[in-house]
Amino acid sequence: MPQYMVLPENKALSLPLANAGCRLDAVVTRFAPSPNGPLHLGHAYAAICAHDFARAHGGRFLLRIEDIDGARSRAEHVEGILADLRWLGLDWDGDVIFQSQRTGRYTAALRRLDAMGLIYRCHCTRGDIAAALRRKSVPHGPDGPVYPGTCRGRDVDEGKPYCWRLDMAAATVQVGVTGWTDLAAGKQTADPALFGDVVLWRKDVPASYHLAATCDDGADGITYVVRGKDLFAYSAVHVLLQKLLGLLHPAYWHHPLLLDETGAKLAKSRDSAALATLRAAGEPGEKLADDLRRGELPLGISLATD
Ligand code: GLU
Repeated sequence: MPQYMVLPENKALSLPLANAGCRLDAVVTRFAPSPNGPLHLGHAYAAICAHDFARAHGGRFLLRIEDIDGARSRAEHVEGILADLRWLGLDWDGDVIFQSQRTGRYTAALRRLDAMGLIYRCHCTRGDIAAALRRKSVPHGPDGPVYPGTCRGRDVDEGKPYCWRLDMAAATVQVGVTGWTDLAAGKQTADPALFGDVVLWRKDVPASYHLAATCDDGADGITYVVRGKDLFAYSAVHVLLQKLLGLLHPAYWHHPLLLDETGAKLAKSRDSAALATLRAAGEPGEKLADDLRRGELPLGISLATD
């Protein structure tokens, strides 16, 4: 049995109100795990936030498996995700959505951006980028140094592997100032230029996370993207892509993250927090979910305050 502690302050989950101009009956949220490892307590918290927010507003809660990266996705993790959610007492609406079955949609979006002259092929390997960064100083974005633009405007050798990158400067000129509403943090101005020319289509994998997630949120009619604060900054890129692709803008709720005893975000490699481990040990999942809702966290786990 995990030992529980009650936090000194009230850290019970309090759901924000759906107030971003959407009708209450139009609340549609999703939980979108990548099946590249077992889910942990942080995923349980994310799923509860998205599920409870939808249910509190009489809305729909969708389950989307982000298995676009075939080399890292595993069928046993998909099975584990479904079993973990059922064990936690979380039910989703409709069929489970698999990104691996939707590559046609992502290709169409990429073609559209190509026709707008906003993407380019890039041959650079990690080594090429590291070498270019030694020669040229570039700004640091939320994901580290931004791509130095080596292949922008260059002729490409179609025989060599390439990815597709967004020409961020051209895209931001086209779209102008954008932003989004976060139910916890308030109105945000998007600054996607911080990320530089993001990859939209990888060499080895169809769409990148940014393109696939944005296309799907639009196609599935997601009105509230509920996810952890670690993905907060990416919303700037997603809002830009929504505008370029003519998709509706959802509102966002980036909830606080669960931390381990060192203060780091829970990782898939941390076995003790794996839901499958607790499930196999006979822990009652619905009680665990209720404990998380009340802010009663297993010993060593805390909720980030920022
Ligand atoms: N697939 C992402 C993850 O597992 C979540 C994506 C999202 O919620 O936008 O971290």
